[in-house]
Amino acid sequence: MSIAKNILSIQSTLPAQVTLVAVSKTKPIAALMEAYDAGQRIFGENKIQEMAEKCEAMPKDIQWHMIGHVQTNKVKFMAPFVNLIHGVDSLKLVQEINKQAAKVDRVIDCLLQIHIAEEETKFGLDEQELNSLLSSSEFQEMRNIRIVGLMGMATFTDNKDQIKKEFTHLKSIFDSFAVHNSQLTILSMGMSGDYQLAIECGSTMVRIGSSIFGGRN
Ligand SMILES: *Cc1c(COP(=O)(O)O)cnc(C)c1O
Repeated sequence: MSIAKNILSIQSTLPAQVTLVAVSKTKPIAALMEAYDAGQRIFGENKIQEMAEKCEAMPKDIQWHMIGHVQTNKVKFMAPFVNLIHGVDSLKLVQEINKQAAKVDRVIDCLLQIHIAEEETKFGLDEQELNSLLSSSEFQEMRNIRIVGLMGMATFTDNKDQIKKEFTHLKSIFDSFAVHNSQLTILSMGMSGDYQLAIECGSTMVRIGSSIFGGRN
């Protein structure tokens, strides 16, 4: 199947409230342009340098999402153009994003990453850390960062029950914070292998790479 057909067939199965992020990391600009020509305007990358180069080379009506783990010393390279940063998981990173956004006179939307998987290696906050970050006076005084939702990644496993349990857990955390915070509207969960399940569990944003662009090396 072609990239355009993949995009259209995935889009046709998504409920209206679910946004598709086309994860284009490692793929060449020609591949991204095929998706663009099929109507896709939101692309996700996991390396800041690569995202900046693609942003420079591609049409200006694209929204660029940073979906990978972010090092604080690289925030400045995406602050002028990034539309949403998915994997924010520390106050230190929040501070740096706020600082760099202020320098370019922007307000940058971010998602806080929550640790829901069994694996130790996946980044993210637990519920208590989320609570203390959102309620800290330091955070509340920041004017150039806006937390608009949560993001999570399930354990890499074929066990659907386990994935479902993890997504359901994230959704319940999301709901418990969203009742008190009207800015929290986005729940980013679900990738090629598990996005249908994620949507059943309440996802509003899916990050899909290999089912659109094919496998990565
Ligand atoms: C690579 C990546 C994806 C996309 O993964 P696929 O399995 O190719 O759909 C989604 N989210 C994150 C955070 C990623 O790094």
